[in-house]
Amino acid sequence: MNNFRRVLLKLSGESLMGAKQYGIDNDRLADYAQDIEAAVKRGIQVAIVIGGGNIFRGLSGAAQGFDRVQGDQMGMLATVINSLALGSALTSRGVKNRVLTAIRMEPIGEFYSKRRAIDALEAGEVVILSGGTGNPFFTTDTGSSLRGIELEADVMLKGTRVDGIYTADPEKDPTATKFDRITYDEIYQRGLKVMDLTATTMCMENNLPIIVFDMDTPGNLLKVLSGEPIGTYVGF
Ligand code: UDP
Repeated sequence: MNNFRRVLLKLSGESLMGAKQYGIDNDRLADYAQDIEAAVKRGIQVAIVIGGGNIFRGLSGAAQGFDRVQGDQMGMLATVINSLALGSALTSRGVKNRVLTAIRMEPIGEFYSKRRAIDALEAGEVVILSGGTGNPFFTTDTGSSLRGIELEADVMLKGTRVDGIYTADPEKDPTATKFDRITYDEIYQRGLKVMDLTATTMCMENNLPIIVFDMDTPGNLLKVLSGEPIGTYVGF
């Protein structure tokens, strides 16, 4: 049994597409909302950061000739769109939540502050932290590590479509094997692309463990919270 009181859940924007090529898949959104509801019912405080890759990524924009900073701002706005969608899916299940934004844009969401986020978490609300870090040249993985550290989460749960960290990309290399546990140092040494290095370094320097797991299988979030050995644990 994992004894998590407060978790930072990172959801990938790309996964929100489900089987679609772009945008938001309602079934995937509903599955996520159901899993999050189950976690809240266990009394766990859940803070969420969602990516925006299903709508826009600054780097791909720059490759097409967009200004990088404006492209990143578009990406941050994409995470706000996804956050509102998740908030709405949670609300329709009766799960109290609030969307906070890293950049001021009331009344779309309240401007983020640590106090505001923690007050809401302690009142049993799901807090959705949108807009990444609020700065260009960062990713939502870094946004997650930053907020996870700030909010004193016990763990960062990185939901992906792969069931953990492998020696190589399992979608490309059939001989790749999965780690049950790995250290931050090993991630650097092996050059594994788990998250960007800024995010990994922040977690390492501030002692925030990470569990990488397959969030696209309904029920997995509860399994991780219950301490079932799925996914890969990253620590010292
Ligand atoms: N982004 C940013 N600053 C941040 C977080 C995100 O500029 O602090 C932008 C960046 O352009 C990024 C996009 O938002 O490509 C979407 O986020 P991300 O790529 O992390 O989404 P994911 O891959 O998780 O879907």
